[in-house]
Amino acid sequence: MLCIQSPEILSRYLKIQREKGLKIGFVPTMGAIHVGHQSLIERSAAENDITITSIFVNPKQFNESKDLEFYPRPVVEDIKLLIESGSDLLFQPSVDGVYPEQFDDTDIELEGLDHHLEGEWRPGHFQGVAKVIRRFFDIVHPDRAYFGQKDFQQTVVVRKVIEQFHPDVALVIGSIIREANGLAYSSRNERLTAGERVNAAFINKALNMIKENALLDSLQSSIQKARLFIESHEGTVIEYLEAVDGYNMRIVKEMNESDFVVVVAVVNYGGVRLLDNIILKQS
Ligand code: AMP
Repeated sequence: MLCIQSPEILSRYLKIQREKGLKIGFVPTMGAIHVGHQSLIERSAAENDITITSIFVNPKQFNESKDLEFYPRPVVEDIKLLIESGSDLLFQPSVDGVYPEQFDDTDIELEGLDHHLEGEWRPGHFQGVAKVIRRFFDIVHPDRAYFGQKDFQQTVVVRKVIEQFHPDVALVIGSIIREANGLAYSSRNERLTAGERVNAAFINKALNMIKENALLDSLQSSIQKARLFIESHEGTVIEYLEAVDGYNMRIVKEMNESDFVVVVAVVNYGGVRLLDNIILKQS
């Protein structure tokens, strides 16, 4: 696997590959690679000639400096897992390389997504995501870019960036990879105690309950039951648990309000923010 730090060198290298007619798949990550990331890399490796994985802990998307400081950076282990998954190239730029002095830091139009749900809980987060993705796409010009459904609202933000700045990039959304008990893989799971990690299965269970109940009961009553179920576990605070329109994240009250309905959730459990979601319907 090639490792490149310089955005200029990567751009020049990829220009030559593109001129040869090779297709480029891009998987942006913040490292601490787990099987969720690996599934995206494997898919990209199967669908493209060259797969680039980036590892960049983007300071602009952290609203809490402690979170940024303590973000895990197991580089040697990461490199091993990237090679195993079929990544051809690791792009590991410095903060100054991504944000040089002349970097245009103007906010990107996200039609309110940056202040809604996850955006409301993490002010500035989605502007940070949108700016780094725009910059990375300017450098890489991928044919396909791979993101996880796990961070559902992020996929809607990325789609906005693509529409405005890189309409030629195909957005590929990979399904959520889960631990054996249903807990979605996340680098944050490491912060749970062993017991909490086992118990945390209740989040996915609650989402599945909503999906089953919504066929028989009203959507609102299904969500309310799931809310009570989650809150029956000690140490939980629901930050949000809402059904949304999967195209624009607007809250929906009834199943028939959209042909794409997703329930998005963040549960703070033992002081750890756990994100999850489930698609109720998508036509
Ligand atoms: P991160 O390093 O947290 O920025 O994640 C990099 C990419 O991996 C994002 O597109 C995430 O949505 C995706 N991802 C994270 N966790 C999972 C998971 N459990 N299953 C599938 N994709 C995931």
